[in-house]
Amino acid sequence: MRKKNLIGLLPSDIYSWLEEEGEPSFRARQIFQWIYEKKADSFFDMTNLPVALREKLDSAFSLGSSQIKEIQKSKDGTVKFLIHFPPQDNVEAVLIPHRDRRTLCLSTQVGCPAGCTFCATGLAGFRRNLTYQEIVEEIWVIEKETGMTANNLVFMGMGEPLLNYENVHRALQVINSPEGFRKGARRMTVSTVGIPDKIVKLGRDWPEVNLAWSMHAPRDELRNLLIPLNKVYPLEQVLRAIKEYLAVTHRRVTIEYTLWNEINDSKEDAQEVAKLLKKLLIHVNLIPGNLVPSSAFSPPSPRRVKAFASVLEENGIQVTIRKPRGQDIQAACGELYRIYG
Ligand code: SF4
Repeated sequence: MRKKNLIGLLPSDIYSWLEEEGEPSFRARQIFQWIYEKKADSFFDMTNLPVALREKLDSAFSLGSSQIKEIQKSKDGTVKFLIHFPPQDNVEAVLIPHRDRRTLCLSTQVGCPAGCTFCATGLAGFRRNLTYQEIVEEIWVIEKETGMTANNLVFMGMGEPLLNYENVHRALQVINSPEGFRKGARRMTVSTVGIPDKIVKLGRDWPEVNLAWSMHAPRDELRNLLIPLNKVYPLEQVLRAIKEYLAVTHRRVTIEYTLWNEINDSKEDAQEVAKLLKKLLIHVNLIPGNLVPSSAFSPPSPRRVKAFASVLEENGIQVTIRKPRGQDIQAACGELYRIYG
């Protein structure tokens, strides 16, 4: 019989299994502690469980399904992990330590169907959705490897999270559960290029989880060039969904805007962005684009970035210019691509 992976399993499934086995439910809490706090290597290390239960667990479950194949460290402290899910898929995840913050950037799909033309993941193609257990396991395997506890999670790695909504939703349940990873919803951010109905659904299901919207252009014709999925979900529809999300959650939305030299970085573009976003509860994160092989775009000069930011600020919009992290190990935005195992 093939063993089921215990990492990332919904707590309710573990309770049901214990009940079927005639075991008391309080054992679940002990098991969760061994998995998520102590990151046990084996069921036989779970010394406060009766030996008979350890044996039953060992014959029914495995502890994890993945393997870290490679670790790259940047000179700025960023660490990139190549995680292999047998038989043949890889994803990359990135740990970004900054002062007391340990941010983990997670992948949700092997590759990405959104196909953004500036992004190495999009250009690499799409293989499959990660399961919710695999999404949770990215955190588990990295925390186990490094001994660090991530206190900020961003779903901004490979994939479009809202095109894998059910698995992301279940992963959030396990990550947020007092019986799972116990990570606060307010310390998690889901990033999307804009799937309107799922933006609204996320707001209803997870009003405390943060939303980041990758806008990247203020009009459809330009956005279609950068994000082909915009042809399916045009700007107006996404903006309507953002407004609905804001009405439900009353939580500030981060607008991600990646700047490309003489593509979407003019002062006129900035004026158009300001017009669309004025009066909304948002914060704009400007990201100078990263050079990606086989992409036609190049980063703008710092002067152009500053000029773009000034126009937004003059229009009363809060702006941050994001400092790139992990560029020397291809761990920055849009640079993750190794999907073949
Ligand atoms: S930018 Fe995000 S949504 Fe677009 S292709 Fe890359 S991973 Fe997918």
